[in-house]
Amino acid sequence: MLDVLKYRRPEEAGSRGKGRIEIDDVSITFGRGAAAHRAVEPTTITIEPGQFVCILGPSGCGKSTLMNAVAGYTRPTTGQVRVDGAVIEKPGPDRGMVFQQYSLLPWKTVYENVAFGPKMAGHGKVEASSIANTFLNMVGLAKFGNRYPAELSGGMQQRVGIARALANYPSVLLMDEPFGALDAQTRLMMQESLLEIWRKFGTTVLFVTHDVDEAVFLADRVLIMSAAPGRIIEDLAIDLPRPRRPDIAVDPAYVAAKQHCLSSIRTESRRAFEEQNK
Ligand code: ADP
Ligand code: MG
Repeated sequence: MLDVLKYRRPEEAGSRGKGRIEIDDVSITFGRGAAAHRAVEPTTITIEPGQFVCILGPSGCGKSTLMNAVAGYTRPTTGQVRVDGAVIEKPGPDRGMVFQQYSLLPWKTVYENVAFGPKMAGHGKVEASSIANTFLNMVGLAKFGNRYPAELSGGMQQRVGIARALANYPSVLLMDEPFGALDAQTRLMMQESLLEIWRKFGTTVLFVTHDVDEAVFLADRVLIMSAAPGRIIEDLAIDLPRPRRPDIAVDPAYVAAKQHCLSSIRTESRRAFEEQNK
């Protein structure tokens, strides 16, 4: 058991240096013929190992569709997604996923939810338990292992979701509007604690949001998507120091980055609106 803890410490998880995502000329069309609907225009982008990248764009622009192609739930119509060189064809434990709706198993305790992945991956009881406890501890829920998801607040459930995803030692963490259902105060706390976890774990994070503040606060890079059909219109570096605290929102560099995102989105939305009304 001690051995397990020795090599299973999150900061030694081996995810560092892994997690390069290559989205190579990916487009995604739903339906065929007259009913064909292109959700994602041809997109090429590379995300380096350990980067925290936000995809920012209006509702319906194709963020989840693009994310699902990285997760392996949706097959690209053209092009391919590679993670560390391997072409993505289906979901896998190298890519942990956290959604907006808490996708915990309601009939299992918090502990069992987190230990489930490691058990499925073939770890013995003792090892799975050690892994689960490590990650519950990391998200600050060590004392809540025996509770059921319904007995926890939304923010706590989402932290269990993060622990559960990390317990598979993914090289990539995919988060689709994970804090969208939380109240503003809880959301801020979750953003801070996610950054803290990311700093310890070092995994690549691809995070979808429609919230400009959330994107600028979290990201190394913000990929701005156009209104439907979605394509990445901008790849903006956020060169703000870390660790970031909420009071960074008054930093002139933060304000400038935020204004830049807002103006790109406004210009793009106006273009899309005029296009639709031509
Ligand atoms: P976002 O996450 O940015 O809000 P989505 O990726 O969910 O946007 O959706 C992009 C577009 O693709 C929308 O027009 C949506 O209706 C359409 N779409 C998403 N999933 C499917 C699907 N499985 N079948 C058909 N159309 C879909
Ligand atoms: Mg979505």
